[in-house]
Amino acid sequence: MSVRLPLIFVLSFLALRPLFAQNAPPENACATPGYSPWLEAYHAGKIARRPKSVEVQYVPVHLTLLGDDDGFGYADPLTVLKSFEFLNEDFAKINVRFFIDNEIDYLNSTAYYDHEFDGGNELMRNYNRDNMVNSYIVGRAAGACGYYSPSADGVVLDIDCINGIDRTWSHELGHFFGLRHTFYGWESFETNKAVEDAYRDSPAPATLSLNGRTVEVERVDGSNCQDAADGFCDTSPDYLPERWRCEADGNYLHSFQDPDGTAFEVPASNIMSYAFDGCVEQFSEEQITAMNTNLGTNRIGLASTVVPEFTAAKAEDIDLLAPENFERVPYSDVVDLVWNRVPNADFYLVQVNSTGTFGNEVTYSFFTSDTTATVRDILAPQKRYYWRVRPVNRYDVSGDFSATYQFFNGAVISTATMDPALDAAIAINPNPVAPGQSFLVTGNRLGHGTADWQLYDAAGRIAKEQRGIQVTGDLSATVPTNDLTPGIYFFRLSLEGRMVTRRLVVTP
Ligand SMILES: [Zn+2]
Repeated sequence: MSVRLPLIFVLSFLALRPLFAQNAPPENACATPGYSPWLEAYHAGKIARRPKSVEVQYVPVHLTLLGDDDGFGYADPLTVLKSFEFLNEDFAKINVRFFIDNEIDYLNSTAYYDHEFDGGNELMRNYNRDNMVNSYIVGRAAGACGYYSPSADGVVLDIDCINGIDRTWSHELGHFFGLRHTFYGWESFETNKAVEDAYRDSPAPATLSLNGRTVEVERVDGSNCQDAADGFCDTSPDYLPERWRCEADGNYLHSFQDPDGTAFEVPASNIMSYAFDGCVEQFSEEQITAMNTNLGTNRIGLASTVVPEFTAAKAEDIDLLAPENFERVPYSDVVDLVWNRVPNADFYLVQVNSTGTFGNEVTYSFFTSDTTATVRDILAPQKRYYWRVRPVNRYDVSGDFSATYQFFNGAVISTATMDPALDAAIAINPNPVAPGQSFLVTGNRLGHGTADWQLYDAAGRIAKEQRGIQVTGDLSATVPTNDLTPGIYFFRLSLEGRMVTRRLVVTP
């Protein structure tokens, strides 16, 4: 099921995966099938070239973060933002700017979290949104760093290749916009060593066979660059089908011989090669023209040149409302975090941590588009916690976190009697509320019975209450605040032995 907020009983994926783990990347840089009928037609001159747009083209991205069935293992939101900024850096040269459309979705599914291609295609068929670049970040992307699926028309990225320095996202979107690998044709060789053993000291063959297609091998003199490999003349010959590290000169360790017996070095700079991410830098001009043409023909309607009004959201506009700084929170297993709505913020990145330094290991970190979040079951009692919020604009995700507040998580009132079903069925809006307004408590399909509610102030005194409400299925109760001083209150509703408690805030 798709949920807007991660389930907050999660202990943070960091217990499983350190944030900046130096995990070996998956063996394949990318598992995108190389053939692209669109590029075939483009190279055949059947599609008119469109030069690079002079206006910025705004392209919507639908972003989904996968967790397992229990809500473990999501990509770290801060790292995702860094990767998104990096993606926009790479595409700025093309005058394309990606923005995050709609909500950032969280999806809990072990089957999709660690999948083979069939599972990935099913994931995309079920959850893609129309006319967007659908991007999914999973625990294991069929053993690759990522891939673009032509049939499902979406991009899947492995969590280990979304680390804020990796260019996998840019590479996969290169495929999305029609590009092939620079080494197209060499995928039938399992390792770079196998290519090296065969063609380091003797000429490469004139053609290769890949999935029943004959692919010309690119020559150094440029005589067949339009017909060979990726079909671009400003990308160098590249015979390396496996991830590789560049040397200090920016090339592969060894040279190869082309079909004419001319020795050449393979440069690491192109994003569509399999060179490691520290080496790659850019798309070529011809690749840029092809992607721009793809955007304007194959993907017409995806981009907009209407300039949206946006400004990065500002951290100094954030007010952390509850818990108050240094507050002792009287609930051990449920803490509601509340902040204000910030101009230009479409999302908020919320972090809760056991220290105030927020290094690489953060206890809990998630996106929400609300201004409240209920943290449940992950916080130890009798322990101090630190929290902060970063407002995020969907067009410009740069920015900083608010000041850090701390609260002491107490253990005064047990919520062991909290009824999860009742809790899920009850909504209280608005919260926070301005003085003089009322909280509206609503619930649907609650069953029949008698309900009571009490509103406690922070000192535990009953400020208001109502007893003996007859519930026949639905509930709608109003809690006026006209005579309440601003601050934090606890609303407790009980219905036939079931109970739910919520933190409510009356703003100054
Ligand atoms: Zn690829």
